[in-house]
Amino acid sequence: MARRQVDHLLIGGGLAAANCARWLREGGADGSILLVGREPDPPYNRPPLSKGYLQGKDTREDALFRPDEWWEEQRIDLLLRTSVMKLDTDERVATLSTKEEIEFGSALLATGSNVKRLRVDGCDLDGIHYLRAFGNSDAIKADAQERTRAVLIGGSYIGCEVAASLTAAHGVECEIVMLEDVTFEPFFGEQVGRFFQDVLEEHGVKVHGGEELERFEGDGERVTRVVTKSGLEIDCDFVVAGIGVNPDVTLARSAGLEIGEQGGVLCSSELQTSVSGIYAAGDICEYDSPVHGKPMRIEHWDVAFNQGKTAAFNMMGRELDHDVVPYFFSDLADWVSMEYVGPGSGDTVIRGSMEEREFVAFYLDDGKVKAALSVGRSDDLDHARRFISEGTTTDPEALASLDRDLADV
Ligand SMILES: Cc1cc2nc3c(=O)[nH]c(=O)nc-3n(C[C@H](O)[C@H](O)[C@H](O)COP(=O)(O)OP(=O)(O)OC[C@H]3O[C@@H](n4cnc5c(N)ncnc54)[C@H](O)[C@@H]3O)c2cc1C
Repeated sequence: MARRQVDHLLIGGGLAAANCARWLREGGADGSILLVGREPDPPYNRPPLSKGYLQGKDTREDALFRPDEWWEEQRIDLLLRTSVMKLDTDERVATLSTKEEIEFGSALLATGSNVKRLRVDGCDLDGIHYLRAFGNSDAIKADAQERTRAVLIGGSYIGCEVAASLTAAHGVECEIVMLEDVTFEPFFGEQVGRFFQDVLEEHGVKVHGGEELERFEGDGERVTRVVTKSGLEIDCDFVVAGIGVNPDVTLARSAGLEIGEQGGVLCSSELQTSVSGIYAAGDICEYDSPVHGKPMRIEHWDVAFNQGKTAAFNMMGRELDHDVVPYFFSDLADWVSMEYVGPGSGDTVIRGSMEEREFVAFYLDDGKVKAALSVGRSDDLDHARRFISEGTTTDPEALASLDRDLADV
């Protein structure tokens, strides 16, 4: 088969690759761009899959990164249902699952993540879902429309968001089973985690903390019961597991790219991998973060979005550091929304009122703000970004006092 030549090869059909393609064009790259993605759909946003799309409020088109015709208008070649199987970094040639060979000038690796799977008795029964792609969200929605009781395994974003969406939009009775004592505890600490758990419980979601899954039981075909190691038994009609993801570095590893301690593709502050002219972005990117002063790998929509943009500029020779403070958002149906900058942990300082659902939690380590979470006080996050970037010591009393303007802190 003939070899094809492209100026910019983008591997992975997710947000990071899509936004890289966009910024290559907006930044003035005139050459050929080829985006190769394994999924059948053109690039789309995953957050609606556990929120509006699962609730039936957003359509498939709403979730798309860009409408179908945009790709052609921008002269970006989309090759879907196609994997890059091999990357020869010396020859600068990628081999596709179609056997076609692509010779490239610069490349972006943005192969994202795969969900972690439960390996317990009964894990192969029907009705046990994971959530990463449109098809998963469709299958969960179909079960929610026909059935009434769900168990969510995991008390983090996916478990909590899906429990809220299934309860609010489909009237499903939801129970969360999780290792941690309160929801979101590893990310936001006990106090703030409890706040979100209270919101879920107020709306009827039952939360079982400190529980480890022992097995699933079924009727021979479908799951009918979740059993934990402590002996808790919950009857159910379906299960959604959200227990985390692994960065998909299969291709990067086989290409000989350096892998970092956090399991991602090791990159410079300019998002360049260990091979010149090959960049990484999104969930797989473990970059030397100027903001944090250490390698970071972060699985957030906003990070994939912004890294795609930085990588695009650097593929055009700009040499920009990726110095954006990472941002995250999440909704529990229309009950409550959160925004977060960080990541980091430490002593929690609350500004505002948790009772009135208008507060910011600052996380301080050694007197310095490392992260902040907002419910209803988005403007305060701009100040938090400044505190995090500047790395200065901050007075906790001033942070907590609504009488003090954060601009003066
Ligand atoms: C249900 C859900 C809800 C979320 N909600 C939020 C949220 O509220 N807020 C937030 O900040 N983040 C959220 N996230 C996380 C966010 O969506 C991810 O961090 C983001 O999608 C990462 O983008 P990416 O481009 O790095 O990877 P991905 O979106 O995973 O895309 C990578 C793509 O590459 C493809 N691929 C892999 N290997 C190859 C190969 N060899 N050849 C070709 N293609 C390949 C994969 O099939 C995939 O399509 C959510 C994620 C999920 C699943």
